[in-house]
Amino acid sequence: MLVPLATRNATGIVLGPTGKLAPGIEVREALGALDTEPVLSSELVKLGLWISDYYLAPPGEVFRAMLPLRRETRHARHVHLTEEGSRKMQELAAGLLTESREGQEAALLAYLDHRPGASLDILRKKFPDALPRALAERWAAVEEVKKERSRRKVFAVQLAGPLPELPPRLSPVARRIIEALERHGPAEDHRKLLEAARAQLSNLRTLSRAGLIELGEGKCECRPGKRPGAREGGLPNDDVEAPPTLTPAQSAVLNDLFPRLDSRGFGVVLLHGVTGSGKTEIYLHLIARCLERGRSALMLVPEIALTPAMQSLFFSRFGDQVALLHSGLTERERDDAWWQVRRGEARVVLGTRSAVFAPLANLGAVIVDEEHDSSYKQDETPRYHGRDVAVVRAQLAGAVALLGSATPALESYWNAREGKYHLAKLAERVGGRELATVEIVDMRQEFRETHTQVPISRRLNQEIEAQLQASAQTMLLLNRRGYSWFLLCRSCGQTQRCVNCSVSLTYHRREHRLICHYCGYSTAVPSLCPACGSEYLHYVGEGTEKLEQKFTQLFPGARVARLDRDVARRRSEFLRVLSDFSRKKIDILVGTQLIAKGHDFPGVTLVGVVSADIGLGLPDFRAAERTFQLVTQVAGRAGRGDAPGRVLVQTFFPDHYAVRLAADQNYEGFFSKEMGFRRMMHYPPVTALANVVAQHEKLERAAQVAKEIGEFFTKVEGQFPAIKILGPGPAPLAKVEQRYRIQFLLKSASRATLHALLKQLADHCAQSGIQPREVMIDVDPVSIM
Ligand code: ADP
Ligand code: ZN
Ligand code: ZN
Repeated sequence: MLVPLATRNATGIVLGPTGKLAPGIEVREALGALDTEPVLSSELVKLGLWISDYYLAPPGEVFRAMLPLRRETRHARHVHLTEEGSRKMQELAAGLLTESREGQEAALLAYLDHRPGASLDILRKKFPDALPRALAERWAAVEEVKKERSRRKVFAVQLAGPLPELPPRLSPVARRIIEALERHGPAEDHRKLLEAARAQLSNLRTLSRAGLIELGEGKCECRPGKRPGAREGGLPNDDVEAPPTLTPAQSAVLNDLFPRLDSRGFGVVLLHGVTGSGKTEIYLHLIARCLERGRSALMLVPEIALTPAMQSLFFSRFGDQVALLHSGLTERERDDAWWQVRRGEARVVLGTRSAVFAPLANLGAVIVDEEHDSSYKQDETPRYHGRDVAVVRAQLAGAVALLGSATPALESYWNAREGKYHLAKLAERVGGRELATVEIVDMRQEFRETHTQVPISRRLNQEIEAQLQASAQTMLLLNRRGYSWFLLCRSCGQTQRCVNCSVSLTYHRREHRLICHYCGYSTAVPSLCPACGSEYLHYVGEGTEKLEQKFTQLFPGARVARLDRDVARRRSEFLRVLSDFSRKKIDILVGTQLIAKGHDFPGVTLVGVVSADIGLGLPDFRAAERTFQLVTQVAGRAGRGDAPGRVLVQTFFPDHYAVRLAADQNYEGFFSKEMGFRRMMHYPPVTALANVVAQHEKLERAAQVAKEIGEFFTKVEGQFPAIKILGPGPAPLAKVEQRYRIQFLLKSASRATLHALLKQLADHCAQSGIQPREVMIDVDPVSIM
């Protein structure tokens, strides 16, 4: 709905009739409907309201997160004159309508008469005053045009003629396009060219106007059942393979799942399957069953861009029933996919967090792969957890929710223990493969014996050498990107810090800059210490970039590559590394946790964890859980092929239970131990937790907001005796993106009570002039840094 809001117009969403209006509220008339049918099903509206209530987020923000991009949907909104409008137009033409009508309205009438179906967006800009009135008085109406939105034109591209030499002033992107055409000849499908040259359609148009290339009628080079993008990465296992025969363990899990699906009732199943146990096959079979039963299915993965192999599998099994929804798509692609789902053309959605809002009807199963992954939690308003929303979505749809992981989140395993979730297990690897054997390398001992602080122990070094001898592949995990951790002045002890955040800057060699990993701020590397002028600046600690360099020097002849978020940012490079590694064109792959995520590289027989304990020192109650998950997951990358795998875990805390139990790949043991800690410290899952942060660019204002919140808590404490309130205190990250942060932690055995208090807090803030941006309420925080 287009509605008047103060002095401007805004898009609103109709949720339903209100009850009685409070006295004194003035009613204004809506300007017109923007859509001809509801964009969100009642199920999704309910889901949105649940999120708004549970996470204390304004409904407007929630629905904005749920809908496809506004700008895209407006494309198809056209305005026509109504009968009334046409009559007015005739009157105007006949000169009967002059005095009462202002110029703008007459102009609008003439415009619409001339151009029926003009775009709503353009009209809004051209006739800001007249248009709302025209809609309100109903002489013009908005029409949602239901044309095929997703059919896009495909161009053939070729060079305009042989170019003796490239024009010197060509942009890098234009150069890439021309080089790609020279190398591979004319392109039948411009989208493939764009992907290869990392270019946009507009770049092609520019080159075409400049007479360097020619655009013609092209043809879509998508193989049936595969979309462009589905094959990117070109991993060898892209070739369509027949699904394997299920193992008895897989069949048993499915025999447990199918009746739940067919009963059409809601239920949550936690699939605890060790790494390499074949969980993906379970997901695929469950989805196939949904389709057979005429239902749809939704599967969430942590970061889709990281798992091109999963995409290929989906397209090869379900063909063009699949829609991808993730943030790596262009707005247009995402919008196309959204509408494909909305129209019921795609009945399987594979996507990341926000795909949980995919407008699938008749949903049979909602699957959350790697359900423990923290990227399911959104770190801006609405701060929802994709896994938890997936469960609620399944509940509203009467669907089965299937959560899968080798290292379930404590919350999920606890729910299974408590009987809220049904637990299914895959205790062994497919094909009788053994889990990798894990050895702990005590780095304190290493230091005592060598008296040097080196990142790679003699033991690990030796193992890598043996791998190279045997032409076997190695993965090395170091959960720190960049070159060195920070730049330290040896004279005065200062480190270079971010101007916006209270963290040290990390040195990145490729850019030759110091970069903040929180806000992205970057600065040139000083040659002298800015604090004392000393020249003794020292790079401390190793990042993946340095390790990559080290191995290249250490093992000449070995093919070394790196995979971390810096590489992943350049998509083609990222895909190349993945594909080269799976084709065994790389011997040693150095990476951050990105390499631990779900990949299936059968050639890897050695995994080295360079430092298992980077996270253990953090003041975050999930530190041990994260370390356990990371080490177990990365260990799970070893020995997935025919040869058994080995893992070396280097650590300064060889006795820490997270390290020990991960080495034993003993999830149950870790769960019991960690639950003891959570119980004692009153942390989730035994208590409900919320993080409330007062934040502002000015420290005084942050302190004042914190003070007001503190006073509010003191005032209502009596009403909520069961809630433990810690704080105010500076957040562990006391400043992020220029904002000072002061924190309260709220713990309660009763979720309902905590929720009631937070609701009162939100109301109180609204009444006492605290801006929404000045206070962050995070329900079920994943990180309390
Ligand atoms: P997980 O996600 O549990 O770590 P995957 O689903 O990646 O494990 O499966 C591990 C490997 O086993 C994959 O290479 C997969 O193709 C293979 N696999 C899965 N199920 C079977 C099966 N029934 N028979 C043969 N191979 C299988
Ligand atoms: Zn100094
Ligand atoms: Zn910063």
